[in-house]
Amino acid sequence: MSGKGSIELVCGPMFAGKSTEISRQVSRLTGAGKAGHAALFVPCCDVRHGVGVLSTHDGNSLEAIAIAAPFALADDIRFVIIDEVQFLDAERFEGNVVEWILSLRDQGRSVLAAGLDRDWQGSPFPVVEELSLKADRVLRLRARCAKCGGPATRTWRPDATGGIFALGGAGDYEPLCLEHWTEEATRAGIPLPVDSNAV
Ligand SMILES: [Zn+2]
Repeated sequence: MSGKGSIELVCGPMFAGKSTEISRQVSRLTGAGKAGHAALFVPCCDVRHGVGVLSTHDGNSLEAIAIAAPFALADDIRFVIIDEVQFLDAERFEGNVVEWILSLRDQGRSVLAAGLDRDWQGSPFPVVEELSLKADRVLRLRARCAKCGGPATRTWRPDATGGIFALGGAGDYEPLCLEHWTEEATRAGIPLPVDSNAV
């Protein structure tokens, strides 16, 4: 395989438009006639939308492959997209997903990974944190705070229940700015992480 590989990370809280960004990239690939050279992966554990096809606004689609371990790719796959990458930690992925992504890049492939940078309790997801240091490009998206409309960097779970990997739909979470997230977390008695004042 020829060409230089790359890693792009798209991260941020929920509701920040990460999926829209992925759809845009899929549309770009299909529009350029390159969909046959692309592979889309989602974590095995994320079954909220069912595993199958990612459809974009303009009617393009790409089949999603559920993974729990490195996946052997054909040589002609040059574009790799991984959604909800924060779930692919040591518990849910056999091997190290960051190392796998680095090896895909070294093989000359372009990797786009998207995921949450923090859980609703404010702690960084390790996989995304590590990727943000190793990616060639990081696109940090912001949502809109549900309370003040300002830039939201955090995801909050209003009922303050469930583990950090609790899956939920849009109704279970809301985006908040740092100030309002800190207010809610303090009120709910959630211990603030060490870097909780980082925007
Ligand atoms: Zn706010």
